[in-house]
Amino acid sequence: MRAIPKYDIRGIGIWGFQEQAQFVDYLLADGALKTGMLVAINAEKIILAEQNPLLSELIKSAEYKYADGISIVRSIKRKYAAASCLQRIAGVDLWQALMRSAGLRRIPVFLVGGKPEVLAKVEQKLVAAWGVKIVGSHSGYFKDEERSALFQAIQESGAALVTVALGSPKQELFMRCCQQIYPNALYMGVGGTFDVFSGTVKRAPKVWQSLGLEWLYRVLAQPTRIGRLARLCKYASYHYRGQL
Ligand code: UDP
Repeated sequence: MRAIPKYDIRGIGIWGFQEQAQFVDYLLADGALKTGMLVAINAEKIILAEQNPLLSELIKSAEYKYADGISIVRSIKRKYAAASCLQRIAGVDLWQALMRSAGLRRIPVFLVGGKPEVLAKVEQKLVAAWGVKIVGSHSGYFKDEERSALFQAIQESGAALVTVALGSPKQELFMRCCQQIYPNALYMGVGGTFDVFSGTVKRAPKVWQSLGLEWLYRVLAQPTRIGRLARLCKYASYHYRGQL
């Protein structure tokens, strides 16, 4: 496999996989799933990290950061002429591709996050669609005191792929702590993916996705997200001033 370039956007090193299939092949190369942490990078997360030194440190040390947001892809193209063919890799699509491969290869999976009824739907659908071997799951609403028991359950399950849907920065903090106890897995933060996959939240239609407006669709569909626009505007100002 060709060497994968890395691009720096505001101090965060982002892998330049040309497309999702290349990324999945890389994670599954040599017959074994890589270990480490996958973090989707979008404009909002860059700003969140700048406001939260712990999150910033944690994202910087995560092994696999990828361009999930269209604004990040545009910024990379603006900063690096050689990246003209780079495509967005949406976390929700990457997660589904990994789940399909996990089902085919009987890779043990642990799911954390979401409301109990949402998580139950996700589990049913994963088994029905791809025969995913789910070795454990836990909904996303638990007390801090319950965390260590959950870390232990993940370790004892022998999961090779742990997907965590708690939103940012909660999911990154959770994955880092769990990784310290149990490093033998690939951890993936998936935000609202369980809501979309279970059909609880509708994803933007393809035409919005292809116009790079999925973020706007999410704000319009869930007006409680309006506060997040301030972060997007701040990021846009970095982009247009070339402060990348
Ligand atoms: N969530 C959770 N526990 C929490 C807070 C959030 O399980 O304490 C879940 C929530 O149910 C939702 C997801 O985390 O499924 C966060 O989704 P959001 O769309 O906010 O994440 P984003 O994709 O924007 O990072």
